[in-house]
Amino acid sequence: MAYDVFVVGGGPSGATAADELARAGKRVALLDRDGRIKPCGGAIPPRLIADFDIPDSQIVARIRTARMVSPSGRKVDIPIEGGFVGMVDREHFDEWLRRRAVKSGAQRLTGTFLRIERDSFHTFVIWRDKLTGEEQRSETKLVIGADGARSVVAKAEVPDGDKTPYVIAYHEIIKAPLEATGVDYDPTRCDVIYDGRISPDFYGWVFPHGPNCSVGMGTGVDGVDLKACTAALRVQSGLTDCETIRKEGAPIPLRPMDRWDNGRDVVLAGDAAGVVAPSSGEGIYYAFVGGQVAAKACLAVLKSGRATDLQLARKLFMKDHKTVFKVLRSMQDAYYRDDERRERFVSLCHDTDVQKLTFEAYMNKKLVSARPMAHLKIGVKNLAHLMRLVSPVWT
Ligand SMILES: Cc1cc2nc3c(=O)[nH]c(=O)nc-3n(C[C@H](O)[C@H](O)[C@H](O)COP(=O)(O)OP(=O)(O)OC[C@H]3O[C@@H](n4cnc5c(N)ncnc54)[C@H](O)[C@@H]3O)c2cc1C
Repeated sequence: MAYDVFVVGGGPSGATAADELARAGKRVALLDRDGRIKPCGGAIPPRLIADFDIPDSQIVARIRTARMVSPSGRKVDIPIEGGFVGMVDREHFDEWLRRRAVKSGAQRLTGTFLRIERDSFHTFVIWRDKLTGEEQRSETKLVIGADGARSVVAKAEVPDGDKTPYVIAYHEIIKAPLEATGVDYDPTRCDVIYDGRISPDFYGWVFPHGPNCSVGMGTGVDGVDLKACTAALRVQSGLTDCETIRKEGAPIPLRPMDRWDNGRDVVLAGDAAGVVAPSSGEGIYYAFVGGQVAAKACLAVLKSGRATDLQLARKLFMKDHKTVFKVLRSMQDAYYRDDERRERFVSLCHDTDVQKLTFEAYMNKKLVSARPMAHLKIGVKNLAHLMRLVSPVWT
């Protein structure tokens, strides 16, 4: 069977793209190699839950407070007003997304993408079937590369597809501590730890997942011992005695690629296109949106016959998210470089306007422009900290 679109990768971006295309009546294949749980903290904002119809059954914890911890151990608890941050277990979430795409009409294939071959008229995806071990050759009009960070599709097909910078993130899934142990742990609170001993350039986290919990950190600095840093974080958070269920790590891309398509028949989505928010490392929401815009671009090409319409994917994405990415990038560059800056960053988080605006941006993916005085005040505080006009603990 010849497909309209062959989607490589069945994570959030690929499964979303396949679902959208199948619902639009296209013949779509969804290939995933299967068998490995994606290492991920699993935090998702309400905007994702609403826009992409995520059912309650997938939410294993509802987070009502975010705790920022500074290098000196100061804690700022930010209440999450008017909603919650959802936690998903990728082990079940990704499988649910793939099944939803199949229900919508996508054909699911299990195996490993190998390469793309072409003759004068046709494009073929060559992949290895997991069950039989045999190479398969599937004809398709278009390909979506949604095969995650260090995408094989991006490397082979899109200019500079192998040049994306990464941080490596590592976490341990542990059993959540029992209340009786007296550990300062709250199953409805996410802890974000800004401390050079835990991460010299990013942050560490403790994210509750119902009976379990994800504890981890990320860094782009070579030679950092991720396991030792996570062990230090577990000591700091009183989580050393909790049973460890899994230990795993993976790269997180740091910058959206300049091009997401090959000008012919391939477009990228999600981590494969480098799309993860700076500062937070949030990638799941952007992977959903990436899958959606890649599907839109494919639908446009299938209708118009113009390969240039593949560029729509990046254009649509950047129209909505470029400014937020820019702000988050400047924030990371300004505040994640040393402990003095991290201390100042946590100080800023004391400000209720900072809390409100940051959480509005995270929860609803909108930069609020309706409160100019709040923006002005934050701008002044920001400058005061960056110019060292005030002490790091000034709030
Ligand atoms: C430790 C860690 C913690 C994180 N925590 C969070 C968080 O709390 N919140 C958040 O929003 N983001 C988080 N992220 C980022 C988030 O996980 C990613 O941005 C998101 O998963 C990207 O989705 P994707 O579909 O683009 O790629 P992926 O989820 O990586 O999916 C790619 C899929 O492609 C498949 N695949 C890969 N290669 C092939 C191949 N050759 N053939 C066939 N199939 C293939 C894989 O099996 C996989 O299913 C975290 C990342 C890490 C590493």
